[in-house]
Amino acid sequence: MLGFGSLAKKVFGTPNDRKIKATQPLVRKINEFEQEFRGLSGDDLIARTESLKQRHAAGESLDDLLPEAFANCREAARRTLGLWAFDVQLMGGIFLHQGNIAEMKTGEGKTLVATFPAYLNALTGKGVHIVTVNDYLAKRDAEWMGKVYAALGMTTGVVYPQQPEGEKRDAYQADITYATNNELGFDYLRDNMRSDLKDMFQRGHHFAIVDEVDSILIDEARTPLIISGPSEDRSDLYRTIDRVIPLLTEDHFTIDEKTRNVTFTDEGNEFLEDHLSGAGILPEGHTLYDPESTSIVHHVNQGLRAHKLFQRDKDYIVRDGQVVLIDEFTGRMMPGRRLSDGLHQAIEAKEEVDIQPENVTLASVTFQNYFRLYEKLSGMTGTASTEADEFMEIYGLGVVEVPTNKPIARADEDDAVYRTGREKYAAIVQEILKAHEKGQPVLVGTTSIEKSEELSALLTKEGIEHNVLNARQHEQEAKIVADAGKLGAVTIATNMAGRGTDIQLGGNVEMKVLEALTEDPEANPDEVRARIEAEHADEKKKVIEAGGLFVLATERHESRRIDNQLRGRSGRQGDPGRSAFFLSLEDDLMRIFGSERLDNVLSKLGMKEGEAIAHPWVNKSLEKAQAKVEGRNFDIRKQLLKFDDVVNDQRKVIFGQRREIMEATDVNDIAEDMRHQVIDDMVDQYVPPKTYVDQWDAEGLYVAAMEKLGVDVPVMKWVEEDGVDAEVIQERLVEASDKFMADKAAQFGPENMRSIEKQILLQTIDSKWREHILRLEHLRSVVGFRGYAQRDPLNEYKTEAFQLFEGLLNSLREEVTQKLSQIRPLSEEEQKAMLARIQAQRDALQSQAQAQPPQGEAEAEAAAPGFVEADPSTWGNPGRNDLCPCGSGKKFKHCHGRLS
Ligand code: ADP
Repeated sequence: MLGFGSLAKKVFGTPNDRKIKATQPLVRKINEFEQEFRGLSGDDLIARTESLKQRHAAGESLDDLLPEAFANCREAARRTLGLWAFDVQLMGGIFLHQGNIAEMKTGEGKTLVATFPAYLNALTGKGVHIVTVNDYLAKRDAEWMGKVYAALGMTTGVVYPQQPEGEKRDAYQADITYATNNELGFDYLRDNMRSDLKDMFQRGHHFAIVDEVDSILIDEARTPLIISGPSEDRSDLYRTIDRVIPLLTEDHFTIDEKTRNVTFTDEGNEFLEDHLSGAGILPEGHTLYDPESTSIVHHVNQGLRAHKLFQRDKDYIVRDGQVVLIDEFTGRMMPGRRLSDGLHQAIEAKEEVDIQPENVTLASVTFQNYFRLYEKLSGMTGTASTEADEFMEIYGLGVVEVPTNKPIARADEDDAVYRTGREKYAAIVQEILKAHEKGQPVLVGTTSIEKSEELSALLTKEGIEHNVLNARQHEQEAKIVADAGKLGAVTIATNMAGRGTDIQLGGNVEMKVLEALTEDPEANPDEVRARIEAEHADEKKKVIEAGGLFVLATERHESRRIDNQLRGRSGRQGDPGRSAFFLSLEDDLMRIFGSERLDNVLSKLGMKEGEAIAHPWVNKSLEKAQAKVEGRNFDIRKQLLKFDDVVNDQRKVIFGQRREIMEATDVNDIAEDMRHQVIDDMVDQYVPPKTYVDQWDAEGLYVAAMEKLGVDVPVMKWVEEDGVDAEVIQERLVEASDKFMADKAAQFGPENMRSIEKQILLQTIDSKWREHILRLEHLRSVVGFRGYAQRDPLNEYKTEAFQLFEGLLNSLREEVTQKLSQIRPLSEEEQKAMLARIQAQRDALQSQAQAQPPQGEAEAEAAAPGFVEADPSTWGNPGRNDLCPCGSGKKFKHCHGRLS
């Protein structure tokens, strides 16, 4: 019997059905254009692009132009790639254009789908970004689909790491740009570290189509992209704190062994305040609760963790004057790996070895926040609907399930649950053997590289030939994955491995042709192709007879989405296929949820060794368990996002200001406003409102005016005059400093002055912002630990981050004003030296701004080794024309980078 819900769905259709239906008229219109476009010449297709562009410029909306544009693109793909887009592919394209996530199964041809909205939206001339998960795919898709765009008179670019500047510039200027999420994020950060507009690569964030969108916006969403560099030497700070820590007693702190967190009690805080003030670390009159003390609190926390949570010869060893970490699981040393956030330095201080400089963040952004920059965002993937709420809530993206071109013929079996892992693996090996014997290709999914390796050893023991994939070598992997559909192939892969490449039964013709031609370049390509196509048809037939691709999963993942992704690799384009999950009560997920109940059931059934239970009820309860974990993970992501938002809002303000300054021809008015504000603050401080003359600090004001404004004015005399009040003093200071700066401008000449003002503004913003993000990082690590009062860490963080931001703006104004008041024309010698210094700094920035590989949560602590001048292995890939990072002053190509 149908429930009310299902009954209603039958009558009214689901919301998804209605969305699909709504695209029908558009699809019909596109189809109506088919004949007209078939008849056009190649030049006509290009001319049509021009006319569409003009019509858009004249006011027709992209929605109006959609049917014609899609029809033009469809025809271009037919001519260049020999692919005639299915109606469902057009539908997918429409949903993307409308700013949705199009859920389309593997093998439905998403690469082609993206060309339609990309072409349509590029008619605006504003550039479209297509985002892929790895560089190999970006390049492959750009080359492959580039033919379609070229036939339409549009340019295609591809962006990749360490790309020569000119090439990267062209790629971003192209109508359609393919790039990975990493490279886009890094270019965004690097762009916002430049001091000249013309050095920026990205021209705004207009429209992005994100392929494998769930992987990028959910799995990797929180991964921050970080550009880092060494900080100044702060050994003294670490050593001083290190001397205080052993003085603490048990009343001063608590330790949570499980989370490895430490918290100071109120007593502890008081004790620390005394000692740190005495040691000159905490400025007089400051407490540890002030926002300005965030960094100190952070380092004290790290000092305590270093002493109480890290044990020599267990967690690390000291060798050759260095602290070397030990891998908790394998017991192996991990030379070169360093704990982040000053923790490694704290341990170095404790062990009294040399303290290596800390690597600090110069700029960072999360994918979440990067992708929210786009005016319009869209995405495609085989698996999004389980996370539809999250996509909507965080990105405002709706998920639409696009029907498959052909009905799915894959058989999805109920999970088979064994009591122990041993029984499960024995059964898996038998299952693989059975399939393998009849030639059915098997894709075995695992949850980790280690498990892949264990299984591989079992198969080797049985003499079953197989390939192992682990999501590290993208290009090679794409080949192996493409081969996974061959007759009798057995492929073991972690869930994420080879994403983006579809598995075709009998293997991939294009790859086979390419391989054959690489092996024998003399061969006739047409003959080779004909031969391979014939062989392939035969092999494909046999694979289909053997049942198509068998996806055998060895565990359920925490998220249903990842399981669906794996399942979906079989049964593409209506192919036959089979999927089955082999589980045991010892699996992680089973242990966390419901295994007791299951165990009871299994006992009642009186199961024998090696037997499994398979029942829809088991699937249901597992899926419920997964939904619970998904919900919890979403909550964690949401909470973290709220923290990120605070920094993000501030970053947007700063980057926006930077950009305005770069765009302006003259920033004198900004500098002047800053100076006047500094004067107001100064007067307020030394001549406070509602006070009498004898309470004023005329001397202090005199010194401050000298220091900050560079003017020597008789403040002490002024205050003795009758009728002089704060306002008069303020006006006189403004007058004096305006004149002082005007004289300076005359000395330099207006042209020079403008550029000096701009440079000083930008440099100061950058250095202040870097200090600020470091403080925020520290603040974030301490708010969670605060033991005092039951305050909400997020609120604390917000309030203090805001105060710190206000502080940043104040000190920015002061520093800019002061620096400008101190400039003086340089002698020729000095000028040369300065230019050289600026160039060296630029080059250094370039070489530091190497992409830090994004780190997963688990790896976040053990950061990549920092940049160390004396250690070439820490340099990343310096540009050949950059100064050598060793500090020799020679270009890299003439020094450490010499090709001998
Ligand atoms: P997905 O990303 O959806 O898994 P791909 O874009 O990798 O799929 O395409 C899978 C395969 O389907 C490719 O080999 C492609 O050539 C083929 N394909 C895509 N669209 C069509 C079409 N309209 N007709 C025939 N083959 C197509």
